[in-house]
Amino acid sequence: PLVLSDRINAMQESQTIAMAKKARALAAEGVDVISLSFGEPDFQTPQYIKDAAKKALDEGYTFYTPVPGYPELRQAICDKFERDNQLSYAPENIVVSTGAKQALANAVLSLVNPGDEVIVFAPYWVSYEEMVKLAEGTTITLMGTLENDFKVTAQELEAAITPRTRLIMYSSPCNPTGSVFSRAELGAIAEVVARHPQVHVLADEIYEYINFVGEHASLAQFAAVKDRVITVNGFSKGYAMTGWRVGYLAARKEIAAACEKMQSQITSATCSIAQRAALAALQGGRSSADEMVAAYRRRRDLVLELVKDIPGFRTPTPSGAFYIFPDVTGYFGKATPTGEVISSAADLALFMLNDAHVAAVDGGAFGAPNCIRFSTAAADEKLREAFIRIKNSLTKLQ
Ligand code: PLP
Repeated sequence: PLVLSDRINAMQESQTIAMAKKARALAAEGVDVISLSFGEPDFQTPQYIKDAAKKALDEGYTFYTPVPGYPELRQAICDKFERDNQLSYAPENIVVSTGAKQALANAVLSLVNPGDEVIVFAPYWVSYEEMVKLAEGTTITLMGTLENDFKVTAQELEAAITPRTRLIMYSSPCNPTGSVFSRAELGAIAEVVARHPQVHVLADEIYEYINFVGEHASLAQFAAVKDRVITVNGFSKGYAMTGWRVGYLAARKEIAAACEKMQSQITSATCSIAQRAALAALQGGRSSADEMVAAYRRRRDLVLELVKDIPGFRTPTPSGAFYIFPDVTGYFGKATPTGEVISSAADLALFMLNDAHVAAVDGGAFGAPNCIRFSTAAADEKLREAFIRIKNSLTKLQ
């Protein structure tokens, strides 16, 4: 008989992908499903980036590249850190990977020993917990409160740190909540981290450019902890390049070298053509992102307006990213027309898929089982139609 490893048996399938599968199956039956389950920009990659990829092919960029990426791309990433974040790095601090996802995995696998505690700010992005599992670490989830826009405070962090704490992980702007840490909040967190020299921080800034409040602050900007912060970023969200698979991290050179070693044995460098395209993306600045952000902001406002009309949703205003994350506990205990009781956000998400034909992801996947995540990266008409359908369906719950 086939025996799979304990490691893979312990791992969960990504629930965002699972929901997308269910939605596709319904659509294949001819149902008009509106999918708000995926974390993907609905924009095409800007033309100048596509052109750079075509040129790269014609110029023969078809060979293996150095494992941490082309030197000119690593330099351009340093320039980006200097320009956008006032952070000084050298190319030896930068490792380019197959998406931000691999950058995160490289860092977790390079820093966490079996039994180490990893504090994950919740609601969290789906893959963090599974990566920690893969490293045989212990996840300690630290839940932000709805009252504080789901953001963990420095005091809450201080109380969760133990001598076994090795790593802290969070995203800002946050997927799924859209919360953004202010400079003051990160400063307070930096003070806590500074007091615990065994603790490192993985700061996931993949949504940096999709920010509606203006300032993006980075934990690495606080000098006392810069050496222990690994900043992850990439091209998927800000440049609408999800399929190209380019992300990166910045860290002190010993950590960067460890991540390079990890990557050298698992995938080698990411695609040469995608790296050339990423270089062009950076050289083009961030004006293409600014245009997309204007659309994301308009859609956020549209959706917030639409959910105001839906009783029982408690929806904080997202400061960034492209999701809304309402608390839906108001519906727990109600029954569907066929008599099934809604006892979780997962039940409600399934009801919405089957009755309203709108796919979203229940918050359990993000460590927040009272919430549902809706992506707002869809056309305005689709969003309008989706929330009208949801409102109608919810009136059927008694
Ligand atoms: N981090 C967060 C918070 C994300 O939402 C995502 C993608 O959904 C990633 C990382 C992965 O990005 P990439 O496509 O660059 O691997």
